[in-house]
Amino acid sequence: QGPGAMKFQRQHMDSNSRPNPNSNYCDQMMKKRKMTVGACKPLNTFVHEPLKDVEDICIQRNIRCKNGQNNCHKSKSSMRVTDCRLTNGSRYPNCKYHTSPTKRQITVACVGNPYVPVHLDG
Ligand code: ADP
Repeated sequence: QGPGAMKFQRQHMDSNSRPNPNSNYCDQMMKKRKMTVGACKPLNTFVHEPLKDVEDICIQRNIRCKNGQNNCHKSKSSMRVTDCRLTNGSRYPNCKYHTSPTKRQITVACVGNPYVPVHLDG
């Protein structure tokens, strides 16, 4: 498993938690998953679906990513996700997040062989 795939799983996969987390979810998870090291990552999404289902998004047809590359793929079905957004008053190292559970189709960028997700594009 390559470093990109491992980083994707660390930053974006939380298969085993319920999609309706408490309001502390993002504060705890952003810290636990090392996204508050050196700086508070401003925006991050966790996906509450099996890894296999997220990896299978790479089989969908290619679409344009936000950075102009064409290695993005959008999920056919909507997925349970939680959006974590840094609060306005939050100052490093005290990273405080808004926790917003929702369901939507997600877009991932995939690379490599095996061709697996390395970036969440939306
Ligand atoms: P995320 O964007 O999922 O929060 P990072 O920005 O930390 O995660 O890492 C994304 C990684 O994916 C980078 O190493 C980047 O080079 C790689 N990557 C591959 N394809 C793309 C793409 N189309 N758009 C953005 N990043 C991509």
